[in-house]
Amino acid sequence: MKQLSFLSSEQLSNWLIEVSQQKSTGDLPDYIPLLQETDPNLLGICIITKNNNILNQGYCQGKFPLMSIIKPFLLLYLLSELGEKFIFKKVGSKPSRYPFNSIEQLQLDEGFPRNPMINSGALTLASLIPGKDSEKKCYNLLQWLNKQSQCNLFVDQSMLDSVRSLPNIRNKAILEELNQRNHIQNPDITLDTYNRICCISGSIIDLAKLGLLLVNSPNINPKNVILVNNIMTTCGLYEASEKFAQKIVFPTKSGVSGGILSIVPAQGAIACYSPPLDAQGNSIAGLSLIEKIANYLKQSNT
Ligand code: GLN
Repeated sequence: MKQLSFLSSEQLSNWLIEVSQQKSTGDLPDYIPLLQETDPNLLGICIITKNNNILNQGYCQGKFPLMSIIKPFLLLYLLSELGEKFIFKKVGSKPSRYPFNSIEQLQLDEGFPRNPMINSGALTLASLIPGKDSEKKCYNLLQWLNKQSQCNLFVDQSMLDSVRSLPNIRNKAILEELNQRNHIQNPDITLDTYNRICCISGSIIDLAKLGLLLVNSPNINPKNVILVNNIMTTCGLYEASEKFAQKIVFPTKSGVSGGILSIVPAQGAIACYSPPLDAQGNSIAGLSLIEKIANYLKQSNT
């Protein structure tokens, strides 16, 4: 089998050229004004192996909000702070066939969030972050992530203002359902915490470094790493998770900003950025790049 560490810059740059033709077919999310203004032609990839070898091509230094890519790291943080038993009393780990911000799925499940990769689960987890208010809660998560991954992630205030300018109708409806069923307290603090953590931002290099926490990290319980990777594999791309997992077995998580992160177990992490999205809200070029790498890794060494 080929290894991630065998990849060359030439190979990566050829793949970037190939996928750049597909970029125009997707859409930018129209519900967050600042994301709507992003340049759809931005495209970058960064691979970091477990030995910290970095290979990157394209748009690498620019920062973007992680949006839903924060969800697996929110889960990882809370598993380490509060433990598996407590967390899985609050959220499930089953895939959903409904969109990431579906209220219908939550109602069908009688108010129990199906998994932490969709909004009902991530909102519930956001409510559990230690801290007296949304600012402190977000700070606690951010500090932990930066310390563990040696990154300089930060909250993008303009993006947060843009997210806060929305009516946030679906997330508010999810919170109301969760609150009515006594699953969370303080829906306002929870919504603001969730919005803040979705605006945690960095480059694809930061994102790949963050991904290494799910490969091998001396300070993180390997059991929690396995739990998060498994949930990413089955739920990380929303309704498209099952279809994608049949082609590519890597745990993968996307966000509406166009970022996408894949973990290659025992080898390293792949972070991509390209804003145009498919109908499920996953980066089209990002998925395509990850598929190319997965096919490459399947080949024998000859
Ligand atoms: N802030 C976004 C939302 O809740 C994040 C969603 C995503 O990246 N899929 O709508």
